[in-house]
This record gives sequence, C-alpha cells and structure tokens, in this order.
Amino acid sequence: METRPAGEAQEDPIKTLIQRDTRNALKGSTALYLISAPILILATRAFLAFFHTPLTTFPAFYEIYIISITLLALVTYLWLRFHPASTMRIQLYLLGILGLSIGGGFFLIGAPGFLSSAYWRGQAELQDPKCTRDGGELAVLGGRTLVCLKCSRVPRVGFETPK
Ligand SMILES: [Zn+2]
Repeated sequence: METRPAGEAQEDPIKTLIQRDTRNALKGSTALYLISAPILILATRAFLAFFHTPLTTFPAFYEIYIISITLLALVTYLWLRFHPASTMRIQLYLLGILGLSIGGGFFLIGAPGFLSSAYWRGQAELQDPKCTRDGGELAVLGGRTLVCLKCSRVPRVGFETPK
C-alpha cells in the first residue's frame, strides 16, 4: 500500500522508502505479537490448571506484562500509520527488546522486525543511510526500491540489521 506524504514534495525519497518498508515490516511484527499474546496466556493458564496451581502473583504479572507489550506494539504501529514521518526509534527498540524478554511464542519472530525497523528509521534520519553489509551508498531504483550502489543488493529494510 502506497502512502505518500501530503504536501511534502521535498521529502528525501530514501527516507520515504525506509518509512514505508519499516511500516510494512512492523505490520507483520505487530500481528505476530497480537497472535502470540492470547496463545501464550492460554498456554500458561492451561499449564497452571494442569498442575492445579492457582493463578498467583507471578502468572498474573506475566499476563499483564504480555498484554501491555502487545498493546504498546499495536498503538505504536497505528501511530506510525497515521504519522508516517515520526521516527519512534527508541520505542521500537524497546518493543523489540521487550518482545524478546517474553521469550516465547511468535514474540521471538516478531521482535527482530522491531529492532530492524528501529535501526533503519535511525538510518533514515541520517544524511546518507548506508548498506548494512558493506557500508555502500544507497539509492532509489525506479522510485520504489532501495538498492546498494556497491553490492547491488536490495537491503531488507525492517528485517535485517548490520552484522
Ligand atoms: Zn551493499
């Protein structure tokens, strides 16, 4: 889905592409968080019921933790949808780290999307974002794709971080 910033013809095309690609990646990651939350909570409850353990402080806290992170992810994604130019780098890093800290379900698959998007959105703020593999200069190909001028690779914005 194309979203063009209204009235911002001067906007850097690389930045716009990074914003679009990370938004798409974040959509997937947020969906993974949303799917994981109820599954993990139900699995925890089933586990507790099986061992006849009452829902005590720790599991209750764990559930609130999972729900809070998931809601924060949803709000952040929606915010970026309607405010495409905001960076929200710190918040995205945080959501990635928090997702990893849950340590289960699809949170582990969704978290790298937040971390990579945080990285790329930080790059978009720089004067000249670089290729994650060789530090080559990035250019826009055909107005829709980002490509590295050094290794001719299309960087996977929202999925990769520099090694
Ligand atoms: Zn490269």
